[in-house]
Amino acid sequence: MLRREAFIDGRFVPAADGRTFPTVSPREGAVLAQVARGGAADVDRAVRAARQSFEGGAWSLADPAQRGRVLIRLAELMTERLSELALVEARDSGHPIRDARSVDVPNAARCFAWYGEAIDKVYGEIAPTAADALALVGREPLGVVGAVVPWNYPLIISAWKLAPALAAGNSVVLKPAEQSPLSALALAELAVQAGVPAGVLNVVPGYGEEAGQALGRHPGVDKLAFTGSVPVGRLFQRYAGESNGKEVSLELGGKSPHVVLADAPDLRAAAEAIGWGIFYNAGQTCHAGSRVVVERSVHDELVAALAEVARSFVPADPLEPDTVLGALISDEHLQGVLAKVSRAREDGASVLAGGGRVSPVPGGAYMEPTLIETDDPGLPVVQDEVFGPVLVIQAADDVEHALSLANHTRYGLAAAIWTSDITTAGRLARRLRAGTVWVNTFDAASMATPFGGSRDSGHGRDRSLHALDAYTQLKTTWISLA
Ligand code: NDP
Repeated sequence: MLRREAFIDGRFVPAADGRTFPTVSPREGAVLAQVARGGAADVDRAVRAARQSFEGGAWSLADPAQRGRVLIRLAELMTERLSELALVEARDSGHPIRDARSVDVPNAARCFAWYGEAIDKVYGEIAPTAADALALVGREPLGVVGAVVPWNYPLIISAWKLAPALAAGNSVVLKPAEQSPLSALALAELAVQAGVPAGVLNVVPGYGEEAGQALGRHPGVDKLAFTGSVPVGRLFQRYAGESNGKEVSLELGGKSPHVVLADAPDLRAAAEAIGWGIFYNAGQTCHAGSRVVVERSVHDELVAALAEVARSFVPADPLEPDTVLGALISDEHLQGVLAKVSRAREDGASVLAGGGRVSPVPGGAYMEPTLIETDDPGLPVVQDEVFGPVLVIQAADDVEHALSLANHTRYGLAAAIWTSDITTAGRLARRLRAGTVWVNTFDAASMATPFGGSRDSGHGRDRSLHALDAYTQLKTTWISLA
């Protein structure tokens, strides 16, 4: 299952110029594999293969039920190979093996099955015209979709793009992140076995500036779906503008707040959920609940509970079955997170817990769960995504103050409210700038609910039938009955 070459037109092939790059496990810093370093020539080959398969119609014009069966089969194969896929994901990304086994692989498989089950139940419309016409409004695939994904959830985020795009009949070229390319290549192998025709799914590993940029600028790509950082998201908009004006959807970062009010039903339960919301995957989650805005009257009690929860997340070897806090994605990324904590200290914020590097596995990239408190809403640690196990606590005078602190960033991805009052919850949910608002819970989700944000968190939605909007266009067929 350890594939190292690019997957183009149904075959694993080396990069056109034969170059490779190392993918390193953050668990212990070891090189796992030398992987094909795709460049512009490889992206061009993949886009041509995708175009040819799309125009050929074997997938794009197939009965949706047939495409659905193939995607459901892919989900079954992923489930049959769960142990191997989970190991690939855990080693390449540093995720705890228990999460890779119970979350990453099952959720990605569920995503393929969900769109496979759904796609033959999506109907078109008949427009309300005069009696002398029959105007049909249907969805059709866009053509060639490029997907550029990050390293924090390699399988799940790839599935969020691939499953609706493929279900709708598009052909796809996927560029996984350089830090974690292996699970996407394993997925390609299973897709062939499931019956995805040659050219319909292509995977070109490589560097962002090379393969990613080439895909973003390729005139043969009709749509580019991106998840990652804000600056690179902006680059994709520029690439689109400077090439063929392709559609771009962006799922970018966040600085998601928990608003904990004095009447929160159970502060201990809130602290537990807040801990999971920031320490899960070492905080490398776009919608991680990285801020807590808490009313002063319950501040001390909540902070004490958070400190206890933080102590229960012990950084450990991701391959040990009980580990809940594994490695960060790379030493370089860890250095960046530590630098942001140091900067917060210099800015006058208090580090209440953690803040340092630890070494449960020599050579790996591990960090203590960290709690930071500040009253200055303008500090970089409050405003900027840290993408590590770092929670920032801010005290609020009352509900209005809490709301204004919660909304005081450039992001708009997710938020949570902890209160016993349904009216307060409903009112705040309307006013919080976030694509998802949880009430008395955090990170509850289903394939049936859309996920995405606004402002610096991007636009467009993954998951649910709404994601099909991103991979289809409406076609009006007007038939004269005169
Ligand atoms: P990036 O946005 O750089 O990477 C995401 C994807 O974009 C990767 O496939 C990457 O390729 C590609 N890419 C990078 N540069 C370019 C480019 N110039 N042109 C085209 N494609 C490019 O995220 P990072 O990995 O650098 O992480 C940096 C920060 O971004 C994190 O600390 C976090 O704050 C945020 N982030 C947010 C994520 C989210 O889920 N919203 C996910 C990951 C990061 P390659 O990796 O090969 O360079």
